[in-house]
Amino acid sequence: NQLTVDLGERSYPILIGKGLLRQLPQQLAARGIEPRQTLFIVSDEHVAPLYLEQVVNGLEQAGYRCGYHIVPAGEQVKSLAYLEEITGKALEIGLDRNSVFLALGGGVIGDLTGFCAAAYMRGVPFVQIPTTLLAHDSSVGGKVAVNHPLGKNIIGAFHQPSLVLYDTETLTTLPKREIYAGFAEVLKHGLIWSESFTNWLSDNASSLLSLESPFIEEAIQQGCAIKAEVVSNDEREQGLRAILNLGHTFGHALEAISSYGGLIHGEAISIGMVAAALLAERIGLTKAEDRVAERTISLLKQYHLPVQLPSAFAIDDILAAMRHDKKGKDGKFVFVLPTAIGAVEIVENVDEADIIETLKICKEVE
Ligand code: NAD
Ligand code: ZN
Repeated sequence: NQLTVDLGERSYPILIGKGLLRQLPQQLAARGIEPRQTLFIVSDEHVAPLYLEQVVNGLEQAGYRCGYHIVPAGEQVKSLAYLEEITGKALEIGLDRNSVFLALGGGVIGDLTGFCAAAYMRGVPFVQIPTTLLAHDSSVGGKVAVNHPLGKNIIGAFHQPSLVLYDTETLTTLPKREIYAGFAEVLKHGLIWSESFTNWLSDNASSLLSLESPFIEEAIQQGCAIKAEVVSNDEREQGLRAILNLGHTFGHALEAISSYGGLIHGEAISIGMVAAALLAERIGLTKAEDRVAERTISLLKQYHLPVQLPSAFAIDDILAAMRHDKKGKDGKFVFVLPTAIGAVEIVENVDEADIIETLKICKEVE
């Protein structure tokens, strides 16, 4: 399965399939990445023991030289401290401008490694090798970043990968909770773009949750295709691309408040999508007979995702964190809100009172 992110000179393929890791050396060569270039693999402590040796051996057999660096698992490594640590390791190994960074892991490793690559000697190429379901989203599109204690993804860049190589076999080792969280972004792609894909996700939830072939490949392919189309039309988020942020204005606030601990990204986005649907209903953006909020909630529940805003989150804290979100314009809140299942709109002037009321309702959702 192959898709292309169409960005002129910066276009790149997304390869999706079982056992693709074994093809990594050929696929690098096909992208013009040659053995004279040193490779630098960044991975985390969960992924490295499972897949790093296989990747390094394959590359070395094909004549590539590679170094690697392993960081702890979890969102907290998306930080300036780890940017510095990884850069230090790259310098110790002697990586020059001709090196290529490889992100072997989930969205955290992809965002962190991609940002290191964007900044290292003012930019070296990088390759995404996603190993989580969620990373079908994060590995495509070239947004790379680390977090600041006050806001998620605040320090970042646009830096497109040279290749996305997605071996769906790696998903079999994912913990259940991470599989559920990954589906939050798959469902998001349905909810912003396609009612029929959304219905298909609902109808095939049990096959998808058990990662059955060919359902899971199809879901990833569709999700990546939607993302690739949106990004190809608006690489730098001047307009359309913002729709990919459905659930993220609320979701990022929840992640920031929990100091990138408690809720994992997909869970925060799930609650964020519920809040967005409730807000849309409240301000009359959706038709009552479409039951958008109700259908969104039951879909997320099919995938064992949280739908209720935990009472521990104070509404004032959420508003404060949302104000730091870089998507805000002139201090106003910008929301991506559903108008129907499979369609969204960007709404710029939402009254704070409606947001507060929505968050209260979100705490009561069952
Ligand atoms: P993650 O990278 O932390 O991975 C989740 C957990 O699964 C980690 O503990 C990891 O070690 C483990 N893991 C990864 N692959 C595994 C495997 N194959 N087998 C066993 N364990 C494995 O998190 P994630 O959910 O993949 O990504 C979340 C991040 O992605 C967030 O930081 C979010 O902001 C970011 N994101 C970025 C974009 C973007 O456009 N750049 C889009 C969506 C999300
Ligand atoms: Zn996301």
